[in-house]
Amino acid sequence: MVRPVTVMARLVRAIHVFLTSPRKRRGWPAFAGHDGVVLAALLLALPAHAASPQDLLRAYPGQFAGFDGNDLIWRDGTRMPLGADDAAAPFEDQVRHGSIRDQLRLAYPATLPVGTPPEDDPGRIRNKAFFDKMYGDCHAGEVTPHLVSVTWLPSQWGHAVRITSVNNVDRHLAAISRELDALGPEYRKYLVPLGGTYACRTVADNGTPSMHGWGAAIDINTAFSDYWLWRRGGGYANREPAAIVAIFERHGFIWGGRWSHYDTMHFEYRPELLPGFDPTADEPLEEARAPKPN
Ligand SMILES: [Zn+2]
Repeated sequence: MVRPVTVMARLVRAIHVFLTSPRKRRGWPAFAGHDGVVLAALLLALPAHAASPQDLLRAYPGQFAGFDGNDLIWRDGTRMPLGADDAAAPFEDQVRHGSIRDQLRLAYPATLPVGTPPEDDPGRIRNKAFFDKMYGDCHAGEVTPHLVSVTWLPSQWGHAVRITSVNNVDRHLAAISRELDALGPEYRKYLVPLGGTYACRTVADNGTPSMHGWGAAIDINTAFSDYWLWRRGGGYANREPAAIVAIFERHGFIWGGRWSHYDTMHFEYRPELLPGFDPTADEPLEEARAPKPN
């Protein structure tokens, strides 16, 4: 559920951001005049909805056979309860021990303009059992057998990055890589050298598993990144261009710049939080994938 206060805050903020941003950067040339501005602001402020178990079925068609109102049913027959709703618990406790239900609760605000200061952390709660089942436990050596190589910026950089092939994440990243490449050379500095993809580690501040440990996250160039732990007390900041964020989100990756604990170089595959995303849309792109090592 989205609280009315949150909706109103989004509305006010969206109108403010829209009216105060330079006209040439709004990117909405079709909206002209007062009515257009109001309409655009209302569209931007449409409340984002919390994800549901049905979003998990839509987003991960290869993983789930169904949901019976209480348990998620995996294709191998494993049943996993959604678990308790711990909305009243301190958020950092939810981050450490969140249930699948907690993981879905916070709506991801993909419709808000890039650079809007986030008010919460949609996607930062990750249920360990859920993602270990999906991608494997990296500490048990279960993730690396699924890693494959994707060529990052094939014409402008051309080095291989390793990413999981589970859920076709490699296929989606290859599509992202090609679209980012086509943005042009002025965007290259944000994208290379890469901060990294797979790393069997925990999140720096809270010791919870990182999406990097499941092989389904990527950090772009750290030199243009803003990270809340590096700017304690400094307030929200972002230098990543909206065009880059939009490409990732179109292919199933959420952005750490939409977290109040922001991490603007970070993107992770979380298609359940992106309602418009079709996980079957990206075709195999063998030409975009580097040769696999033996
Ligand atoms: Zn990261």
